[in-house]
Amino acid sequence: MTEPTSDWRDIPKVELHLHLEGAAPPAFIRGLAAEKGMDLSAIFRPDGGYRYEGFEHFLQVYEAACQVLTGPEEFRRLTLAVLEESASQGVVYTEAFLSPEFCGGGDVGAWREYLAAIQDAAMQAERDFGITLRGCATIIRHLGPDKGRDTARCAVETAGDFLTGFGLAGAEMMGRPGDYAWSFDAAREAGLRLTAHAGEWGGPDMVADTIRDLKVERIGHGINAIRDLALVDDIAEKGIVLEVCPGSNVFLGAVPSWKDHPLPKLMARGVKCTVSTDDPPFFHTTMSNEYDMLEQVFDFGESEFRHLAETGLAGAFCDEATRERVRKRLA
Ligand SMILES: [Zn+2]
Repeated sequence: MTEPTSDWRDIPKVELHLHLEGAAPPAFIRGLAAEKGMDLSAIFRPDGGYRYEGFEHFLQVYEAACQVLTGPEEFRRLTLAVLEESASQGVVYTEAFLSPEFCGGGDVGAWREYLAAIQDAAMQAERDFGITLRGCATIIRHLGPDKGRDTARCAVETAGDFLTGFGLAGAEMMGRPGDYAWSFDAAREAGLRLTAHAGEWGGPDMVADTIRDLKVERIGHGINAIRDLALVDDIAEKGIVLEVCPGSNVFLGAVPSWKDHPLPKLMARGVKCTVSTDDPPFFHTTMSNEYDMLEQVFDFGESEFRHLAETGLAGAFCDEATRERVRKRLA
């Protein structure tokens, strides 16, 4: 599914914004559906890719694809398939958003089993493909604050060397960030590092409220902060890292085109920016493709790409020993 023609395929990359289920290679989901005798033909195009129109429909297709992921073993296989693909794109360190709702329905005991399976696959991928994974337990915002608390309880119980982050994803315009403050406070007290999607669809106010109410170190997307330069300066001053996903933004229409993407402006104003793929097969992108587009549209080259990887590693939710080990791979 990926073109081996990129000039930037081999440069070491760090990816901080990747939804595990959203990174599921279509062939993997199709294969699993066939094994289980499930008919998911409605969500695939004739060429084998995922088929949907618009963001709401994307969420529905995403959840349909997740139906084949019925237990820990399926998530172990999914994790391995995703990490093999990421490693083939030159990614040496990645973080993945994991949902205790999708993995055990918010039950702590079930979540433990899913997480153990995912971690087992991560260890195998580290040995076999040379890629390091850390997990970020993530609230699905459109399921509401009560489910968010279940997610927080699961995350608090399993925080550690592998599960290092806590996040907020899903439909951004549902409710306000403060609705999730209890969950973020609990996660912070358990030592988890915090990120939240904001400013992909919402305006600068959503980004500002997220920073104020959830006290995050990173923001998923955050691109609409560009409409308020005082906010951009505040983000830069606080050292908050943006997990920018340009291909995703263009594909879903959050920005009109690549040339309109605010990434270079945010970087020029001193914001710590990283580049990720979000849900790569859904958006028909890869990390190498993102780099190719950044070169074509903004004339990015090796120094910008090395800077992005270093910023990503500095903002990674991992312990210092892991950071140092990965840093050697960026050299
Ligand atoms: Zn995302």
